Amino acid sequence: MAAQIINGKEIAAEIRSELKEKVAALTAQGRTPGLAVVLVGDNPASQVYVRQKKKACHEIGIYSEEHRLPATITQEELLALIDRLNADPKIHGILVQLPLPDGLDENEVIERIDPKKDVDGFHPISVGRLSIGLEAFVPCTPAGVLELVKRTGTAISGKKVVVLGRSNIVGKPAARLFLQENATVTICHSRTQNIEEECRQADILIVAVGRPKLVKKDWVKPGAVVIDVGINRVDGQIVGDVDFDEVKEVAGAITPVPGGVGPMTIAMLMKNTVGAVDVDH
Ligand code: NAP
Repeated sequence: MAAQIINGKEIAAEIRSELKEKVAALTAQGRTPGLAVVLVGDNPASQVYVRQKKKACHEIGIYSEEHRLPATITQEELLALIDRLNADPKIHGILVQLPLPDGLDENEVIERIDPKKDVDGFHPISVGRLSIGLEAFVPCTPAGVLELVKRTGTAISGKKVVVLGRSNIVGKPAARLFLQENATVTICHSRTQNIEEECRQADILIVAVGRPKLVKKDWVKPGAVVIDVGINRVDGQIVGDVDFDEVKEVAGAITPVPGGVGPMTIAMLMKNTVGAVDVDH
């Protein structure tokens, strides 16, 4: 039986519309959520992401500010901007679009963000809180992955989850989130031996490696839920890390690329920003 195709675009639109109602209620109380997006330099992909984030804020009714800075800005000037945004009561979430141009210290910039405004969930305090199971801002892409799996109606507790990739922005937080949901979690990476065999054990397979169509049909247990985080440009087209045409023949459910995890990332950023208005951690 062919797999259920998980429509991330549709689910993200549902989430945005739920958020729109919440924002209207907050605005009626004079507490409109505010997001500041900081973009340094002229990375074309970053410019696209920032535009999408601004558009989503506008649609939902979130106040947004964009701070575009030249690549020549100094570390001190960038930190001074973060300090101003930390102190600004209109701003509940601060997002510094990564990667930063060479010469700027990303870690120092992220650590300067007030953890109460860390809507990207990259601050070490957010990472630490998530690891020990406290309420925390969760990085948007893995949060979107969990939401997609939940909305397929799949029970997660006790299931075997394999995460392919161990980056700080996707693989590791995804593994922590699914562990918190009581799954048995394996993390694979470039040095993992017998990776196909590891993947075949998965009831839920999450792939975030940045290698076009790496995961083939025979890597997947029949009926498994397959979530493809990959975004790769190949011959002018966007393809995932999973060989979709092959794998959809064996998986129980699968996300397409594009239209799967991608739209969820921005929806979860919006959710984090709305949540930041009432944050008490
Ligand atoms: P990353 O930082 O480059 O990490 C890639 C991970 O994959 C690393 O842990 C690496 O292992 C592992 N890996 C690489 N080649 C492998 C192989 N052949 N077999 C097994 N593991 C391998 O990437 P990322 O930032 O996590 O992003 C991963 C993908 O997701 C990219 O395509 C990116 O564009 C996409 N992405 C999408 C969204 C979205 O919104 N949908 C958001 C973020 C990222 P080592 O640690 O051993 O090097």
